Amino acid sequence: MPASHLPDVTAPKSELAADACAQELTRLRRRLDRERSSRLEAETIAENGLRELYAKQQELQLLEQIATAANQTISIRDVFQYALTQVCEFMGWPVGHVYLLDRTSHPQRLRSMAIWHEAHPERNAEFRLATEATEFAPDIGLPGRVQTTARPVWLNDVVDDANFPRMRSARQCGLKAACAFPVLTGQEVVAVLEFFAEKALEPDQRQMRLMAQIGVQLGRVIERRYSEDQLIHDASHDPLTGLPNRALFRDRLNQVFARSKRGKAGFAVLFIDLDRFKLVNDSLGHLAGDTLIVEVAARLQACLRREDTMVRASSAVEGENTLARLGGDEFTILLTDIRDPTDAIRVADRIQEALLQSFTIEGQEIYTSASIGVATSAANYRSADDVLRDADLAMYRAKAMGKARSELYDQTMHLVALKRLQLETDLRQALQNSEFVLQYQPIMSLKDQKLTGFEALVRWRRPGCGLVPPGDFIPVAEETGLIVPLGLWVLREACRTTRRWQQEFPQASHLTISINLSARQFTQPDLVEQVRRVIEEVGIDPRTVRLEVTESVTMGNAERAIRVLSQLKQLGVRLSLDDFGTGYSSLSYLQRFPLDVLKIDRSFISAMSHSPESLQIVNTILNLARNLGMDVVAEGTEREAEVTQLKAMGCDFGQGYFFSKPVDATAVTSLLRHSDGFAPARQLNGERPEGHSLESLSELEARDAAVEGLPERFPTSV
Ligand code: C2E
Ligand code: MG
Ligand code: MG
Repeated sequence: MPASHLPDVTAPKSELAADACAQELTRLRRRLDRERSSRLEAETIAENGLRELYAKQQELQLLEQIATAANQTISIRDVFQYALTQVCEFMGWPVGHVYLLDRTSHPQRLRSMAIWHEAHPERNAEFRLATEATEFAPDIGLPGRVQTTARPVWLNDVVDDANFPRMRSARQCGLKAACAFPVLTGQEVVAVLEFFAEKALEPDQRQMRLMAQIGVQLGRVIERRYSEDQLIHDASHDPLTGLPNRALFRDRLNQVFARSKRGKAGFAVLFIDLDRFKLVNDSLGHLAGDTLIVEVAARLQACLRREDTMVRASSAVEGENTLARLGGDEFTILLTDIRDPTDAIRVADRIQEALLQSFTIEGQEIYTSASIGVATSAANYRSADDVLRDADLAMYRAKAMGKARSELYDQTMHLVALKRLQLETDLRQALQNSEFVLQYQPIMSLKDQKLTGFEALVRWRRPGCGLVPPGDFIPVAEETGLIVPLGLWVLREACRTTRRWQQEFPQASHLTISINLSARQFTQPDLVEQVRRVIEEVGIDPRTVRLEVTESVTMGNAERAIRVLSQLKQLGVRLSLDDFGTGYSSLSYLQRFPLDVLKIDRSFISAMSHSPESLQIVNTILNLARNLGMDVVAEGTEREAEVTQLKAMGCDFGQGYFFSKPVDATAVTSLLRHSDGFAPARQLNGERPEGHSLESLSELEARDAAVEGLPERFPTSV
């Protein structure tokens, strides 16, 4: 016990008691003080803890708010705007601003997104201008330092900082302390948020930690958004050119269509299809084809850009033209706010002009052109799809009119298209309904005017339309692929009929049958096999079968053409080159192909009499064929003078109305039954001056059964 607590034995008793009391009081007071201070201490600790807890809670709440908003907000801009405002309010900083990394720049720079939080916008105009006008490379200024370090950076007062390019405007606007933090996806800084206060401030580690956390949080959202955007982008864009695809184009067209219905400016759709693109693909390969598509896309884009500025300059409404690739060699353009169709035609003309210059693909100079169809909102459409359909129709018309041109849609095209659709439908059924028939046109030897064979020519007995000539349906059959089964039918039917004549009539045993093969048939991989099978099946001597191909088969893949032609020849059949002179192949090209017969196109024969040039061409072809050991058939010989001329020039064979029009099998059978040979109609009918052999054959057929004495009016042997 301490000395002061011992009772004083020398003092009187009452004094002693008072002393003890005082001492006790002091003791109690001290104890009270101690307890009070320790309670105070405990209270302070508790209060600090609580405050800390509260602050933590606030921070967590902020993080959560930002995360929730970020997940619910659609645009990245809105996410940033929200985060910026929240951080400014939470930390009490009056100014905040966002930069985004421009991935396309080198080095990658931070650029203002023009997203701001400003407690007093009127005070910051100067600073705002300076900020939005400056791009920050790594290490430069506040954002540049954040980009390099990938951590928050704090400046007590920007005025004291040597690396703060916006110092002058910051000072003017009274901004002092600054801090900024990165938005990170993985290790990469994709954006920077910066904040300013109007007084100098010491770095606050706690705030900096929080900022770093917010940066990571925002980064996650952005990363997800980017990949979502990427997905959306991929689903709506063409991977080769990066242009909008059909889906996106239709989407935009629908929007513009709806807008135009509300009385806004007009629009137009351009449908662009490259001419002869398949040729590039076939001859140079798909890779070259792809490169051409990409380069064409770039030129189209350039045309639009130029047009865009022009349209904008002259129009109050802002234009947003869309170039899309629908697939293959098809592009579409949506022109918004055009005043009248001439605006659209001007763009089409510009495109035609831009395509005039050659492309260099894999070191080769390539020329291409486009057929363009234009449809405009002036036609008062009921749906956006109709506009696209009509632009497509107009494009087809441009193709039909000779390609490398543009056509504006008009109503008649729609009717033509409807007719064509009906034709397609009917044509599909025609084969099943056995509506096709063959006619046969004699091919004569000019030397002795004897019959050497026939060319089989298909016709369509279309219900309600009479006999449709092949020119009206073969191209459609080609396009739809129907030519393949049709061609096979022609081959079988012609071989079968000819075989019958050869067997039935001794003088006809050597008659040849010429059968046309279309370009599409020629590309069939099993063509050779089909021909072999038919010949075998029918039992015809292949040497009497002539397959006619046109020069188009020699285009594109010449090596393949040579291979297929050789294989056909190995079957024993003969090969004719039809319509010679109208196609593209040069004369020197000819010798590479294993051909037996050359058929000079009718156009040269009919022009011979009045054009010395045509006469010269026919002569040259005859010489060339002679040198190559080929027989020549002059097609479309209509007049005696032509026959005489051709004979004089040494042409072996002729086919044309002078001898006979194409006739049906029964007429041929009659002819063969009543003759052991065949001569021109003039001879058949004694005094007729020019070819009317169809009548003579028909007459013949009609009289066939009745007139027994007919045979002696026919010339000699085949
Ligand atoms: P092509 O193979 O050149 O057939 C000759 C065409 O000229 C035939 O027309 C024939 O009637 C016509 N012609 C013959 N002589 C004369 C004449 O003196 N004057 C005039 N103005 N014309 C004459 P067609 O039958 O209308 O056939 C046209 C084309 O259709 C054929 O031309 C051929 O390319 C194609 N074609 C016909 N049948 C078939 C077929 O079965 N398959 C394929 N793929 N094409 C065919
Ligand atoms: Mg032919
Ligand atoms: Mg021909």
